[in-house]
Amino acid sequence: MGKQEDFVLRALEERDVRFVRLWFTDVLGFLKSVAVAPAELEGAFEEGIGFDGSAIEGFARVYEADMLAKPDPSTFQLLPWRSEDPATARMFCDIVMPDGSPSYADPRFVLKRTLSKAAEQGFTFYTHPEIEFYLFKDTPQAGVEPVPVDRSGYFDHTAQSMGADFRRVAITMLESMGISVEFSHHEGGPGQQEIDLRYADALSTADNIMTFRTVIREVALSQGIWATFMPKPFTTHPGSGMHTHVSLFEGDQNAFYEAGAEYQLSQTGRRFIAGVLRHAPEISVVTNQWVNSYKRLMFGGEAPSYVCWGHNNRSAMVRVPMYKPLKHASTRVELRTVDAACNPYLAFAVILAAGMKGITESYELPREAEDDVWTLSERERQSLGIDPLPKNLDAAITIAERSELLAETLGETVFDFFLRNKRAEWDAYRGQVSAFERDQMLPVI
Ligand code: GLU
Ligand code: MG
Ligand code: MG
Repeated sequence: MGKQEDFVLRALEERDVRFVRLWFTDVLGFLKSVAVAPAELEGAFEEGIGFDGSAIEGFARVYEADMLAKPDPSTFQLLPWRSEDPATARMFCDIVMPDGSPSYADPRFVLKRTLSKAAEQGFTFYTHPEIEFYLFKDTPQAGVEPVPVDRSGYFDHTAQSMGADFRRVAITMLESMGISVEFSHHEGGPGQQEIDLRYADALSTADNIMTFRTVIREVALSQGIWATFMPKPFTTHPGSGMHTHVSLFEGDQNAFYEAGAEYQLSQTGRRFIAGVLRHAPEISVVTNQWVNSYKRLMFGGEAPSYVCWGHNNRSAMVRVPMYKPLKHASTRVELRTVDAACNPYLAFAVILAAGMKGITESYELPREAEDDVWTLSERERQSLGIDPLPKNLDAAITIAERSELLAETLGETVFDFFLRNKRAEWDAYRGQVSAFERDQMLPVI
């Protein structure tokens, strides 16, 4: 047993922990949890806790169902929304097969494998997400339009604001679990909030996003309201994105930084962006995985619809933010497609793989987009070489099905399950007769 495992076992006793929740994530990005008694933990560290993989989305076919969840002791935290007496803790798990080999269906493993490939070339991948979400007055009911908790807008500061109170409680809880928050504010839509996490290595960030989604929903429930990461809950209000700032480090050097270069962006940084742009349409099914995700990406409102990059251009898909001279280690690029309803492990894996491809194959960065690309005509965009992102889930799946990069990064198991599942979602959706159609047709035909 290693030092970290010993630390956990000691902490369990000192804090009188009675329940340890073992967390892992299914292929679609939903959190799974099994509670074990502290006495089981030594065994869990050594061999893992067995479960039926065939009951988890994307994990196994029935005949190879036995799997084990092995807790990662470095992720041990007490759950602040449970009472202290007795206390409850959690750890994220890696999923392994009965012979001890990693499960190819485990999204955390997909990310770890992609991170190791980048590490072989000397790079560590850092990410910093800006997570947006809506707060509603009530639990959602079928067929009823939700009511936001307020009518405020971007950066609004209002007295006795529900949103501000909510953010204060949620951030305190996140910080108590070791998740640092950098900024938070009211976003553009009524009831819409944003909380930005401090940058961390991509695996910790993905774990943190899973925790974040849980904390936000727990705090909302405790306040009698409802939180959602649905990408586009309203036709007429902005959607919720998860703009993700990324950078690569070589040792303690930011590989995206080069003194004196345009925007202080190094050749490695330029090639990384070129990779992300060239492969954006084929990884879209992962960064924006739901039918609803594409409704966010089509109306402007600062969510991108076209594959291009820019400096201070918020219509661009990739933005190179303002350079801060005192913080040159902070040179980074902001990827604006991603939404918070993605599976963060898979999303970070495919973004990194696309960027790394740009580096290893020395992709040339196209010209930067200087205009607001939404106001250009289709012809103007074409003449500038600016292509659209997939317009709906169907288009995203079709491109993804032919993607070698995606198949290689996700691995055959996840690639097959994921695309089959997404195809089924699209088929279920396209057969629906909507209120839009009735409202348009019944009065006139
Ligand atoms: N809500 C916008 C989106 O869906 C982003 C707004 C912003 O720039 O922060 O991407
Ligand atoms: Mg925002
Ligand atoms: Mg942003």
